[in-house]
Amino acid sequence: MLITPHFLTGVAIASQMPEVAPAALAAVTSHYVLDAIPHRDYFDKQYLTWRNILLTMADGLISLGLFYWLVPQAHWGYYFGIGALAMLPDVISLPGVFWRRWWQLPPIKQLHHWHTQMLQYVWGEQGWGIGLLPQLIVVAAAVYLLR
Ligand SMILES: [Zn+2]
Repeated sequence: MLITPHFLTGVAIASQMPEVAPAALAAVTSHYVLDAIPHRDYFDKQYLTWRNILLTMADGLISLGLFYWLVPQAHWGYYFGIGALAMLPDVISLPGVFWRRWWQLPPIKQLHHWHTQMLQYVWGEQGWGIGLLPQLIVVAAAVYLLR
């Protein structure tokens, strides 16, 4: 999924769980649960295209905008940390976008295969309509919990 649903789910988890360890576990787990839902998160299969880069930048800005709008300043550190953990599987994969051999290194290879082929792409490629809908629902639910 896009950055916004993953990050805001982690932030919503932080708002409901004041203890770090269970919140961190729930945040990382939420990433895989959300990625198992059919969705679309890129324009092009090749990651480094202008459309994908602009989409990722806009997505990141939307995440930050919603975060600063929804989260009281007193909670910024904890909520942001748990939100970041909800994106951890994608962050671990990120070096592979620039250096493909990263995805061949053990245990990254097994993790990447599970994260992509077995989890995200098992439903095939979705169009933007059906691919965006579950992500909008997740974001709406997170906004509802954080308001
Ligand atoms: Zn992912």
